[in-house]
Amino acid sequence: MTNENKCAHDLCSCAKSDDSDYCSEHCKDAVDQDLTEIRCDCGHSDCQ
Ligand SMILES: [Zn+2]
Ligand SMILES: [Zn+2]
Repeated sequence: MTNENKCAHDLCSCAKSDDSDYCSEHCKDAVDQDLTEIRCDCGHSDCQ
């Protein structure tokens, strides 16, 4: 099920920004660069 309010980074559970598909530049860059992360490292305390 897709949550349209969620960051587009697969490993990220944060809410996205209103003006972006991601919660942060970190997630945008991670997807753009096709980085493989073992967990989201966006820095939001809610996101593990
Ligand atoms: Zn995150
Ligand atoms: Zn994110």
